[in-house]
Amino acid sequence: MMMQPEVLVPEHTQPATLDNLLQETRTFPPPAQFAAQANATAVLYDQAASDREGFWADQARTHVTWKTPFSTTLDWSDAPVAKWFADGTLNAAYNAVDRHVLAGNGDRVAFFFEGEPGDTRTITYNDLQRETSRAANALAALGVTRGDRVVIYLPLIPEAVIAMLACARVGAIHSVVFGGFSAEALRSRIADAQATVVITADGGFRRGSASALKPAVDEALSGHGSSVEHVLVVRRTGQDTTMVEHRDLWWHDALADANTAHEPAWVDAEHPLFILYTSGTTGAPKGIVHTTGGYLTQTAFTHHHVFDLKPEQDVYWCTADIGWVTGHSYVVYGPLVNGATQVLYEGTPDTPHQGRWWEIVEKYGVSILYTAPTAIRTFMKWGEDIPSSYNLSSLRVLGSVGESINPEAWMWYRRVIGGDQAPIVDTWWQTETGAIMISPLPGVTAAKPGSAQIPLPGIRADVVNDFGEPVGPGAGGYLVLSEPWPAMLRGIWGDRQRFVDTYWSRFSGIYFAGDGAKRDDDGDIWLLGRVDDVMNISGHRLSTMEIESALVSHPDVAEAAVVGASDDTTGQAVVAFVILRGHATERIGEQGHEEVVAALRAHVAKEIGPIAKPRDILVVPELPKTRSGKIMRRLLRDVAEHRVVGDATTLADSSVMDLISAKLAMPGSRAPSTTKERSR
Ligand code: ATP
Ligand code: MG
Repeated sequence: MMMQPEVLVPEHTQPATLDNLLQETRTFPPPAQFAAQANATAVLYDQAASDREGFWADQARTHVTWKTPFSTTLDWSDAPVAKWFADGTLNAAYNAVDRHVLAGNGDRVAFFFEGEPGDTRTITYNDLQRETSRAANALAALGVTRGDRVVIYLPLIPEAVIAMLACARVGAIHSVVFGGFSAEALRSRIADAQATVVITADGGFRRGSASALKPAVDEALSGHGSSVEHVLVVRRTGQDTTMVEHRDLWWHDALADANTAHEPAWVDAEHPLFILYTSGTTGAPKGIVHTTGGYLTQTAFTHHHVFDLKPEQDVYWCTADIGWVTGHSYVVYGPLVNGATQVLYEGTPDTPHQGRWWEIVEKYGVSILYTAPTAIRTFMKWGEDIPSSYNLSSLRVLGSVGESINPEAWMWYRRVIGGDQAPIVDTWWQTETGAIMISPLPGVTAAKPGSAQIPLPGIRADVVNDFGEPVGPGAGGYLVLSEPWPAMLRGIWGDRQRFVDTYWSRFSGIYFAGDGAKRDDDGDIWLLGRVDDVMNISGHRLSTMEIESALVSHPDVAEAAVVGASDDTTGQAVVAFVILRGHATERIGEQGHEEVVAALRAHVAKEIGPIAKPRDILVVPELPKTRSGKIMRRLLRDVAEHRVVGDATTLADSSVMDLISAKLAMPGSRAPSTTKERSR
């Protein structure tokens, strides 16, 4: 047997798991008036701490209506696949719609729909019950039954929500594929889920014109061996559409013949509700499986407390597409289970003008807005004059999700959109977690710009080092979830081993989220980006987030992405890609970036120290992002290391990488230096 030499590193020379660079000291306690009326009080933390499972059982009874009450709370015997409330039965669509009608709230508006061309529809809970029942009967007539998979490939129109709820009504498992994905992406998801029905539309409106969807479905189903038997087609744009005989059916025809009453299929709490593929920021998307009882409990609980929803008064707007998890949990299930009135907007923020969102906020009196940092930074880039010319005084809670929000973007969001009043909730969670896990509570927590702060009541999260030990105050490490939670994923569709390997192997028996984080001296958690993106500069392990935040804190910068590129001297070197704000671009012009680059390098050195100073800074017109708006740093790493750009199938706009490459080839701009020609 070969002996492995054992290398013992004395404790004090072990490198930090992640360096802590940025200090942020501003804090904003909730206004007294807000705290006085808030749904959530600090008592929740105590209740959850004294009896965690009992706490969740209470939430499940408070927020969800059960057909058969449950008697068991958590069963962890088949770990890492949890069972919550396993002997209870219920229906998700009944909870989202019917029970509000039965409670006498059928006339309440569920959705104010705003199409991109300006068409509008007002949909009450009564309407939603009638339409989901008809759609459920139409699906049943096509033979769809419990456990069957239905792929939904639609624009952000009311039929998307109705289709999801109709699946839930009959006990079928929906898998929503973002309407902007290609035929190939659609084909692979249909095949993985073995779906028998696809629900799509002729097309949708995007950036002022109608773009077709149905041809992508036809392409995805072409060739032999597709599992799909029927395609339901919503007429949205009215464009010419080829229908395949015996397979394709217009949605309006199928619904016209369908009964408006439908008895929901009562399912076990652990019956799968949906499969959703992750955003694909770090690699190939994973088919995440969520079930019914625990998922509804935690989405409704978090939606009620984190957004302080008052269903009779609030107008709530989550800007996410239903093609990603935020749309599932915080457009469809959480808000509808809570009986909310929502805005649903089909199009882009700049069609027909850059004030469209703020016009919508003013028009409907939106009081709760939930969006992504990428959108906030875009509005910063366009300039605050635009939102400032609308009346945004109805806004009382602001949310952020998807990426870390840079402190400067947070401050801008608070001041320009929130009128310096509205609490901001920075919500950390994942497709896998199903619901918000780490977030301030708006009437309780003194908010810190850029921090998701503390695990919600009933959630156990920690920041650990390479050995799985909790890090101390001021230190960085890996974010883990140390106890099962109700909305947790129940696996990766059809692949238990991949589930175990991906999430439960890094630290035995503990869920590893893939994100880096640090704790501050108060114990608050700050997300630092993906651990895959961590850079090793002369032995210092630096996260992307803090250097990006330092760059964004410069008045000329709207967005920044930072990657590590190999370097002969330092192992890796920091390479930054920045988008300038509108006023800076005007001042500097297309050429002459040298000056701003020098200023930015000095700025980073001043804000967080010379170690973090980027070796190269490239001014670019756009950054590569996923469909859900997250920066895909791995593609930039390929550019920075002069490699062929890797898998870009989940990229929102495939021309972006060409734009960046073209930019690098332009006279006057500089490609990232190779280590040989580097100047310091
Ligand atoms: P894939 O796993 O396929 O690479 P993805 O991780 O982008 O895709 P999602 O589940 O949509 O897919 O995103 C979850 C991730 O988004 C988190 O792991 C985290 O990196 C990031 N994230 C979400 N909310 C926040 C937040 N408030 N602060 C910081 N990061 C966040
Ligand atoms: Mg992920």
